[in-house]
Amino acid sequence: MCRIQEGQSGDCRARIAIDGELRAVTYGRPCAVHIDPIEKKPLFHVMPGTRILSIATAGCNLHCKHCQNWTISQAGPESVRSLDLPPEGVVSLALAQQCRAVAYTYTDPVIFYEYALDTSALARTKGLLNVTVTAGYINREPLEMLCKVTDASNTDLKAFSDRFYQEVCQGTLKPVLDCLVTMREHGLWVEVTNLVIPTFNDDLDLVRRMCRWILRNLGESTPLHFSRFHPMYKIRNLPPTPVEFLMTARQEALEIGLHYVYVGNVLGTDAENTICPSDGTVLIRRRGFSILENNLVNGRCPKCGHRVAGIWGKNDGA
Ligand code: SF4
Repeated sequence: MCRIQEGQSGDCRARIAIDGELRAVTYGRPCAVHIDPIEKKPLFHVMPGTRILSIATAGCNLHCKHCQNWTISQAGPESVRSLDLPPEGVVSLALAQQCRAVAYTYTDPVIFYEYALDTSALARTKGLLNVTVTAGYINREPLEMLCKVTDASNTDLKAFSDRFYQEVCQGTLKPVLDCLVTMREHGLWVEVTNLVIPTFNDDLDLVRRMCRWILRNLGESTPLHFSRFHPMYKIRNLPPTPVEFLMTARQEALEIGLHYVYVGNVLGTDAENTICPSDGTVLIRRRGFSILENNLVNGRCPKCGHRVAGIWGKNDGA
């Protein structure tokens, strides 16, 4: 909990005490606005191949030593260039750019909560989906409010270890697990990303425990993305994650019973494809963020008819 003096910001840097009130000074002031393929979030089971308007403001409530967006997540709003883009502007831009969804991402929507909430509510009235890309470090009550206007999330499960969260992120594990369960209870489509960092969390026992927890609490159809680490921010002395470890972790996850397990940040492997868990047909073939083939028919395997969980587009989904 932050104790904030008048004129000072809290730990996340996004709220400042002004005249005895806490103000979200980044409201309507994104420092990052991009149009991404939805695969970049990564979301592999939500409208494949579509464009998503992605926004972020400065600040974060965690301080991960490997943060790839540290130049904005660990910065105050005064030290980054921001645009003036209120919720109406975000929604207009998304529609003008033929985006199907808005993503609250790069840093964490928990930090620009009020802005994300208002923008999401407006976006929904215009037929856009809302996606959070988050570390899931949020209390239940505000999360439930956000869930009411959110369709899908990719949530980091950084390691199935409280020690990792404390030492690497200055956080704890339990709020993240609670967040995942709450999102699922509220019917959000949830995908999970686990970034594997050599010597920190490249432990197959941790991987197995995490996969069993996902299976029990979120279900077998929850996509899990093992992501390859590259040296970044305060962890620059380690090599990228060996691809062999990521492939072994994926195999363990499949054997434990998860149906859709991917390896990210590694180009040109079969581990980017969506495979029918019933008969092994390649349903969606990807390379990086590109869709090479999409064989889904009304959200089902074209050969055996297996219903593939996700939010699919007009041509491939229910
Ligand atoms: S939660 Fe995400 S944005 Fe925040 S510091 Fe960690 S990796 Fe960076």
